[in-house]
Amino acid sequence: MKKIGAVVGATRPLVDAEIIDLRYQVGQTGRTISPKLYIALGISGAPQHICGMIKSSKVIAVNKDKDAEIFNYSDIGFVADVFDVLKCINKCIK
Ligand SMILES: Cc1cc2nc3c(=O)[nH]c(=O)nc-3n(C[C@H](O)[C@H](O)[C@H](O)COP(=O)(O)OP(=O)(O)OC[C@H]3O[C@@H](n4cnc5c(N)ncnc54)[C@H](O)[C@@H]3O)c2cc1C
Repeated sequence: MKKIGAVVGATRPLVDAEIIDLRYQVGQTGRTISPKLYIALGISGAPQHICGMIKSSKVIAVNKDKDAEIFNYSDIGFVADVFDVLKCINKCIK
């Protein structure tokens, strides 16, 4: 994350499962963000999440479900497995 100057955000299920702290949650019951680039990795695009990131300048989404709602809010969308994409990103920024 540091290599590309990124900050982590999360959806509510991860917070509810205590995988990540509430301060990272984006959405209706979390934070509202407006980054230059929002990269949605395995995000379904539920309205409660969308309302927290809709002000992002550009959105890139990766989801293995071609019908995922997040693609309707994305400038660029990849129908792919997040873990494959992360491997590629890691290689590129090494
Ligand atoms: C009152 C209320 C308030 C809420 N507030 C918030 C809020 O503030 N923020 C918030 O985020 N949610 C909030 N929610 C929850 C919200 O409705 C959704 O349940 C939540 O946003 C879904 O999170 P998700 O997209 O991570 O999970 P899911 O809906 O489980 O979607 C996971 C997605 O990841 C994809 N996926 C899975 N594995 C892979 C893989 N390996 N590669 C690629 N794609 C993959 C799936 O295709 C799916 O689209 C709230 C709900 C309620 C009722």
